[in-house]
Order: sequence, then C-alpha cells, then structure tokens
Amino acid sequence: MIHATLKELTRALAVRELSSRELVSAYLDRIAAVNPTLNAFISVAERESALAAADAADAARAAGQAGLFTGIPLAHKDLFVTRQLPTTCGSKMLANFVSPYDATVVERCQAAGFINLGKTNMDEFAMGSTNESSYFGAVKNPWDVQAVPGGSSGGSAAAVAARMVPVATGTDTGGSIRQPAAFCGITGIKPTYGRVSRYGMVAYASSLDQGGPMAQTAEDCALLLNVMAGFDGRDSTSLDVAAEDFCRDLQQPLTGLKVGLPKEFFAAGLDGDVARVMDETVQQLKQLGCDIVEITLPKTELAIPAYYVIAPAEASSNLSRYDGVRYGHRAAEYRDLNDMYERTRAEGFGAEVKRRILVGTYVLSHGYYDAYYLQAQKIRRLIADDFQAAFAQCDVILGPVAPTPAWNLGEKADDPVQMYLADIYTLSVNLAGLPAMSVPAGLSVQQRPIGVQLIGNYQQEARLLNVAHQFQQVTDWHQRRPAI
Ligand code: GLN
Repeated sequence: MIHATLKELTRALAVRELSSRELVSAYLDRIAAVNPTLNAFISVAERESALAAADAADAARAAGQAGLFTGIPLAHKDLFVTRQLPTTCGSKMLANFVSPYDATVVERCQAAGFINLGKTNMDEFAMGSTNESSYFGAVKNPWDVQAVPGGSSGGSAAAVAARMVPVATGTDTGGSIRQPAAFCGITGIKPTYGRVSRYGMVAYASSLDQGGPMAQTAEDCALLLNVMAGFDGRDSTSLDVAAEDFCRDLQQPLTGLKVGLPKEFFAAGLDGDVARVMDETVQQLKQLGCDIVEITLPKTELAIPAYYVIAPAEASSNLSRYDGVRYGHRAAEYRDLNDMYERTRAEGFGAEVKRRILVGTYVLSHGYYDAYYLQAQKIRRLIADDFQAAFAQCDVILGPVAPTPAWNLGEKADDPVQMYLADIYTLSVNLAGLPAMSVPAGLSVQQRPIGVQLIGNYQQEARLLNVAHQFQQVTDWHQRRPAI
C-alpha cells in the first residue's frame, strides 16, 4: 500500500479498498521504521491526532462528502509555516518556533483533504545542495546512506523515495526541488514564479523562491500542483491568472514536439553516467515522436555568479528579521541591545547562512552595489532573454539537473564553491522565473538515481508534465525504488 502513487491512492480510497486510517497508520509505521536511519523528518505528527484526522476523513467519505484527496497523507518542507507542528527552517534560530497561522500552501492542502504527517528536514533556510547545513543533522539518501539526498528539499525527496509519504511539498530557489528529486529518483516540478503562493513560506530569496510538488510520477505532481497553485492576494507576486487543470494535457502525444538541447549544457564537466542517461533520454523522446533541435543559452556560465550575488543579497535582507526580539532564538546572556543582537545571530545561524549574510550585505553595501548587485541584475535579464530566444526555436528544453549523480556525505561540505558549481543547470531557470521539472531517467554505475530536467516557457507547466508523463509511460525509472 505504501508504494502506491497518489493517483492509485485516490482510486483505492474512492472504491473503499482502503481507509484513511489504514493508510495513515501504514505511513506512520514506515516513518517510525526508517526515519531513525534517514533523518528525513524534523517533526512527525502525533499518532493520535493523525489517526483522528484519518477517522474524520473516513467519516466524511462514508457521508459522501469526500474530495479526491480526503484522508491522504503528505508532508511539508519545514519552511511552510504550520500551527500544528513547529516550523524550524532547519535552523537553531527557529528550533522552537510555532507559527500562529498556516501557510497558504498548507491551508490549501488541508482544505483539499490531505493529512499532514510531518515537516521534512532541509538545509538551513534552504541554503545548500545536500541537506548537510541543517541544524537537525544531514538527511541520508535512501538509495545509499553514504550519499547526500540533495538539497535543500532533501527531506521531502528522501521521504517520498523511501515511501514515508506518497507526496511532499518542496521549494526551489535555485534547484532545491529538482536536484534532490534527481538524487533520490523521484519527480518534482518548480512552477513558474508566482504560481504557488509564498505566503507563509519562510523567505530565503524572495524573487527566486517558489514552492512545488515532489512525488513519484509526473501525474502525481500535476495532481498536487492543482491543489498548491492559485492566486493569493496575500502574496504580492502571486500570478493573477485563471486556475488551470495541470492534468489536462497528460495524455497528449508528443509527435512533432520540438525539444531543444542547449549546447552549453553538454560541455566539459558533465559526468559520464549523466551524459549516457541524457543520450538515452534523447533517443527515447525521439521514439515518442519529438524533434530534437540544438539551441544555445550563451550566458549559462554566468548563472552561478549572478545567482550567488542576488540570492545572498535578498537573504541578507530577509534574514535581518531574526534579531532575538520578534521571534526565534534569543541569546541567554548579553550586556546590551547590540550585544543581544550579535550573540543571538552568532548562536542561531549556522556557517553557510552566515557566509551568505556576509556576502549579501557586502554586495548591497555603498560602493559595491553597482559593481556587484546591479551587474548581477543585468545578467539576470540577459539570461531571461536567452531563454526567450531559445523558445522561439523549441517547445521545451532538455538538459541535466546536475552535472553528477549524488555525491558522498561530507565530500563537498567544506568547499562551498564546489557545492555552488554543481548548481549550474538549475539556477538560470529561477533567475528567469521559468517552470522546470526533474524526471527520473536512469541510474549511475553506483546505482544512484539520475534525473533529467525539462524547462518550459512561462506558465507551460501542463506541457512539461505532459512530456514527463509520456516519458513515464514508456520507461520505468520512476517505478524503481531503493532497497531500504
Ligand atoms: N543550492 C542552491 C543554494 O544553495 C539552491 C537552494 C534552493 O533552491 N533553495 O542556494
């Protein structure tokens, strides 16, 4: 039962093959069994309250009042604020923080009938690519506990891969849905900027942050995105467009679809296993009727410097609110107000967060703003323009998610620049605000999952999900699962 997709669970519940109580208790048992090894959850719902919610769901179903998802478990990345459970953002700063309100995404999932089984582990304030920066300890990759699960949504990715929940929410500022999905062999989509409300999503870099679903299949991502997405007046950058059904195009044939391969994505530095999986995926898409066209994204290599100026700049501003006064950690001893601020922030933030606050404050400071921040903003525009030129030649873009499969825990932990370089294929998408997804497409010789990335033009999520779904009809990579 725990291996079922979200789609299969909706059917099993509808025909009463399963009750929500059975489902919730099976997933809670699974969490209890594997979370001590994987550390995917920072907090888990109390059994009694989760079962009470399941009973209420079963009663609603018996009364004919159930929706599609009534009584189905899920988990939220621990930066969506929740009233029921603490929201830590992977930081000591918020280790004991309980929100007085629910994030829009949390509200929407609850209103759709989902039962929240817990909050998933993540890099501190979503800064990282491995989950190693979490104050609550690293997450282990379910495929190989020596390997990183990816990050920053590594807890959500591991939780879905290890079948601790059927689906989970994540957020992606520079790859944090796509890269952990790729490393853990699951499917994830980062929607167009503005699709999913940021209200109640702890801010990292507000112009880049975007929530999205993580699941076994593209179809499940579409189902959950239907729930997560939608205009929200409480988020000033929310896209005010009519609601759409992201499942609507899943069955479309791909005949004649133009798939662009950016030549810069296949340059030196791409691991042999990833290159092989890319080739196999191209062949598969050709068999599905796609036309492959070579395109160019000339500013690709500028994405890393531009992102690692803009994201820290926004982070340094966003994280100034953690001052020990309003909420979160406060130093126990201090001499005066300034000393309280300093000690609170020195104690509350980890090394990576401090590094980014320093970089961000520097690039925004008088005299350096023009040299760094303004230049980065100009590059950001050029990167977005590159994509528009590319989409004049193709419908979707195909590339790797990351240059390599998951590396070992500790391998890059002491070398931030090496870690940043691995973000090369995902960052430009956030700088441009485009939708993109990660789809399982192979395994490395070490048996670690490899994902491929599909990038679409603005609001083309349904198209991406269509391509991924058709690919999943003729491949079984998304059905492979770790031995744990
Ligand atoms: N790895 C990138 C970073 O560290 C992206 C993280 C994210 O998308 N939240 O900033």
